[in-house]
Amino acid sequence: MNGDHIRNTGAMMRSRRCGAWTRSGATCRAPAVHGKTRCRMHGGAWRSGPPKGNQNARKHGAFAQDQIAERRAIRALLDEARKLLVEMNSD
Ligand SMILES: [Zn+2]
Repeated sequence: MNGDHIRNTGAMMRSRRCGAWTRSGATCRAPAVHGKTRCRMHGGAWRSGPPKGNQNARKHGAFAQDQIAERRAIRALLDEARKLLVEMNSD
């Protein structure tokens, strides 16, 4: 490579780093695999990790997003009913 060529490494330098702790005590500075938080050496390799929709760690689902939304809707409905009862009793 000739010496007067200015290399554009901005995008490369800005990419997300792996950050895994290494045996030397510092964090890994290798770029993370696209769409993952770790580099190819630290668990970001293709097809590594759990499959999409993995349920292996599921215990009860009480914190699943759809259930949280359902509880919120029920709470709002009860709140409205309570307000209505207060209004009916106030006259
Ligand atoms: Zn790494």
